Formats: sequence, C-alpha cells, structure tokens
Amino acid sequence: MPIAELFGQQEAVKKLDGELLSGTLSHAYMIWGPAGSDRWRLAMALALAANCTGREGADASREGLWYCGECSNCTKLLAGVHPDFAVVRPDGKVIKIDQIREMQSRIALRPGEARLKTWVIDDAHTMNEESQNCLLKVLEEPPGHALIMLLLDEPGALLPTISSRCHSIRLGSVDRESLVEWGRRELGMSAERAAVLAAVSSGLRGKMERLARDADYFKVRNAIISRARSVMWCGDGGLALTTSEKLLDMLKRSSGGARGAARAGIADEASGDAIDGAAAEGAADGAAGALDGDIAGWQSGEDDDASETAAISTPEGACEVLAVYMRDVLAKSLGGGPDVLINIDLADEISADAERGRPEQFRRWAEKCMSTAEALAANANARLALDDLMLDLALLLT
Ligand SMILES: [Zn+2]
Repeated sequence: MPIAELFGQQEAVKKLDGELLSGTLSHAYMIWGPAGSDRWRLAMALALAANCTGREGADASREGLWYCGECSNCTKLLAGVHPDFAVVRPDGKVIKIDQIREMQSRIALRPGEARLKTWVIDDAHTMNEESQNCLLKVLEEPPGHALIMLLLDEPGALLPTISSRCHSIRLGSVDRESLVEWGRRELGMSAERAAVLAAVSSGLRGKMERLARDADYFKVRNAIISRARSVMWCGDGGLALTTSEKLLDMLKRSSGGARGAARAGIADEASGDAIDGAAAEGAADGAAGALDGDIAGWQSGEDDDASETAAISTPEGACEVLAVYMRDVLAKSLGGGPDVLINIDLADEISADAERGRPEQFRRWAEKCMSTAEALAANANARLALDDLMLDLALLLT
C-alpha cells in the first residue's frame, strides 16, 4: 500500500526504505521539521512498514515504506489499538519524568504481537532535563526490539547526548507548484484556491491539507480582510474599535460548532492519559469526521502536529491572515506582478489598496500584525491587542 500522504518527503522515505530492506533500522529516530511537515505521518508509516508481516516474502523492490494494510499488525496499528505501540505526549506543557519512566519499563518487555515495541514521543522538545536524562538511559542500551521515534521542530531543542544517539530524519518543505498540483489532484481544489493555500502553508503539506479541510477557511479569511479594509479606507477610530469587537465575536462563533467540540475531546483525552495507545485519538477523530476513514489513527496525530500553527479562527490566526494580506499589498505597491501574490484570488482588492498608500506604511502595519500575533501567542489580552492593531490601521493612510 503506497503512502500518498507522504507526498514531497521522498528523501526521508528513501533513506528509511533502504534501512528497512537492508535490516539496518536504528532503534531511535529523531523526525524533525516544522508543524505541518508530516512528521507524525512518517512515524506512523515507519511503524507500519517495520511491523507489517505482509512484507515477509514480498517483492523487496516495493518502496514508499510499503505495508499490506491487511495483516493483524497493520489492522491494529491503523485502528490505533495495537498493544505494542504507544505515544507519549506532553502532560500539560512538559513531558514528565514519570511518563518516560513508564515507557522505560514497558519498552523493556518483549513485544506480544509486533516485531518491534514502537514508541512515539510527540513534541519531544517538551521533555524537561530530568525526562531527557531518563530517556538517555534507554537510548544508551536500547532493547533489541525497540523502535523509538522523537518528533519535534528542531534537534537543537534536545540535549546533545540525546540527539547524537538518534538517527536524524529531516522533513523539508515542498515546492509551491508541486503542492498546487497535489491539492488539485488529491483534494479536488481549484487551481486558484490550491495556489492560495500552498502559499499560505509555506510548503507544508500537512498544514495545507488542514486548511483545505476547513470548509470555512476562505469565508473567514474574506470576512477578516474585508472588515480590516473598511477600517483602513474610512480612517475612523470608532469604526476601528467596533471592528475589533465584531472580529472577536465572529472568530468565537466560527471556532465553535461540532468540530470544535470534537477537537476539544481529543485534547481532553490527551491530557487525561498522556501515555496511551492511539485508540482514544482514533475514536475522537472519527467524531471529527476525518475524510480518510482508513487512516483514522494517523489523522488525529496530524491534527495535533498542525495545531501548533494558529488556526484561522483565532485572534492570532486573524493577525496572520492580515499580515499576509498586507504583505501582498506591499508587494503590489513595490511593483510586483500577480505571481508574487499569496492571496491571488484577491488581486483586484490588493491593487486598489496598494494605490492608496506608500510601501513603508504597508510594511510597518504588516510587521505590527506579526508582532501582535506573537504577543497573542504569549497570552496577551486579545481585545486590547486587536483594538490597538485596528486603531493603528485607521491611522495608516493619514
Ligand atoms: Zn501488514
């Protein structure tokens, strides 16, 4: 079964394929790249390929981390109920030493059904020093049947003693044209929408897929931009403050609903029992209505992976939308053609705005949007931050 979802990560897949076929798989991997870069999917694909009994006697030239999808190990891994597979996630903000101790004692036992006892440590950078030192003991003398995968943004976040004991698998970004083509082919998107999402996703396939699955993405984006444009064109401080309030109301409404509730369910499961199989996540994901029914266990993990990037229906996400839009206005005011635009479907609005001001004004406000997003990520008061941003926008062209 080929893993189409690992689109764009051929280099990593090829390396792991080679190790699997030659029997030189390592006991520990560090799979790293930005959120949305498919690190969770790669980890699941390796777990499947490494434990699939259908591979035995199969044509060794089968590539792409091939697995049969039908043997007992594949079926249980895909359903998120395999007893020899477990995930460690932060308990609160950190992965605590008790979680690693539990892993240490459980991974020492021989696998009951699979070939390997497989552990995924998600957000591995959240291990505190104690946890990392405990993990170090496992990595110094890993059981022969252990496969440990650490998922994180950057290896620099780990103690060198840990990172040096793990094989490094880096996941890169995918070029924009390939992502557009992928979005049209696999997600059935129009070329224009695929181009917008590929650009907004900065080459991260997982992020693009998450945005594409958000049926309201374009509606919410348009509403945010349209309200902000009114403030900029009217230059009215009163309108700026009511817009800030209305924006927050709208974001609250669009982040609610059934899917929001299902996602909250996932979060509750994860915080209630930080070391577990993927069963609870698979079930919660079913409630979230994942399109890929056969890979329910993966999809929820990918959601976790991508949730580190701000969703559009949050004040932080709205600031990012506005920063990207203003960056388009800036590019246009500097004489750029349509090919430099991210919001390519809003070319007319961007041109009209670009004619009303000067590049330095647009640049300054785009930067303010980004610094506001950062402040919100650090728990700034959303109402005050948006009021300030909108008031500044009202004065932008004066
Ligand atoms: Zn199989």
